Amino acid sequence: MDEPYRGESAVATLSPNKKHCYACASILDIRAELCPRCGVRQPPMPGMVSTALVQQGPQPLAHSSRNKTTAGIFALLLGGLGIHKFYLGQTAAGIVYLVFFWTFIPALISFVEGILFLTMTDEAFAQKYPD
Ligand SMILES: [Zn+2]
Repeated sequence: MDEPYRGESAVATLSPNKKHCYACASILDIRAELCPRCGVRQPPMPGMVSTALVQQGPQPLAHSSRNKTTAGIFALLLGGLGIHKFYLGQTAAGIVYLVFFWTFIPALISFVEGILFLTMTDEAFAQKYPD
């Protein structure tokens, strides 16, 4: 913060898709939210909707980039290997399934999990396994 924003003269040397970090004045992509050099979050662009403000409100609907049908099919077919756990980002659980694969216990658990995935609502799935 000891280096003030340089204003017009600095902006003139930038291409239109670049901006200066407001903390350390490194040149950043215009869409950058965090400065890779100093790690300071950049203030929102004028005219852009502030995502920070949007995120403060309660989430109306849970969202997941993962698909419960895909997770269910993985669990039913490859669940003994923990594939659905890896798919859901639960790497540690996936490794446990993999290690105990030979006991067939993971396969039994995954079979139940697969049925649950396929029968639960999209919203319940998204709440349980958010992004
Ligand atoms: Zn910076």
